[in-house]
Amino acid sequence: MKQALLEGLNPLGISLTEAQTDNFCRYGTLLVEKNAVMNLTAITEPKDVALLHFADCLALTKIRDFKGKRVIDVGCGAGFPGVPLKIGEPSMELTLLDATAKRMNWLEQELLPELGLSAKCLTGRAEELIEGRREGYDIAVSRAVARLNMLCELCLPFVKVGGFFLAMKGAAASDEAEEAKAAIRLLGGKLREIAEYPIGDAMHRVVVIEKVRPTPPKYPRRFAKIKQQPLV
Ligand code: SAH
Repeated sequence: MKQALLEGLNPLGISLTEAQTDNFCRYGTLLVEKNAVMNLTAITEPKDVALLHFADCLALTKIRDFKGKRVIDVGCGAGFPGVPLKIGEPSMELTLLDATAKRMNWLEQELLPELGLSAKCLTGRAEELIEGRREGYDIAVSRAVARLNMLCELCLPFVKVGGFFLAMKGAAASDEAEEAKAAIRLLGGKLREIAEYPIGDAMHRVVVIEKVRPTPPKYPRRFAKIKQQPLV
């Protein structure tokens, strides 16, 4: 795992201390162990965990500076991308949010203490946890949660004006960004760029959206509404 991680990070220009590398190996072991009894990930080969989970998430540190930032990971699942970012940049103040209590309990009670990391853990749906947290974060991050037009409504309300929402996407990033154009504008965002980075033989993409105006208070709507009538 260690070797695969270092090889995956090399083309990204990211280096880790010995202690950070050890923490990633521990994360990988705990993830795969727990995955035997709880559905956490479809990726279980150590080499793949290193590349497709850890290097993929750490790549965000090359796209924005996370130093000292308040960051929320919306729909973090088994901790991605939030936990790798916290290992890579311990000075950030991390909030992990997911609707699945089993996964959040594992993160809060097992994984984070084992790795010696602190993060605020919120269990529930993003659109229902906005109260008291509106425009409360410098950066929102999210991977593999929803199509971008719906995801923007879940994530942009959390971001303060001047902050950023980083949506990790694959090959469909440009199409999704095009489809989400109106949603981004309505929610107070501005598409800044679609950044690309190499993961193994593939190029992964991050849609970088800046928050330029406050999100109107009527957003986010209830999830049924977001799904039935995505912003266009
Ligand atoms: N980000 C992780 C997990 C992706 S799976 C990764 O990249 O590996 C999608 C996760 O999003 C699930 O854990 C699901 O519970 C969560 N999710 C989906 N919609 C959500 C919502 N509206 N609010 C909070 N969590 C949500």
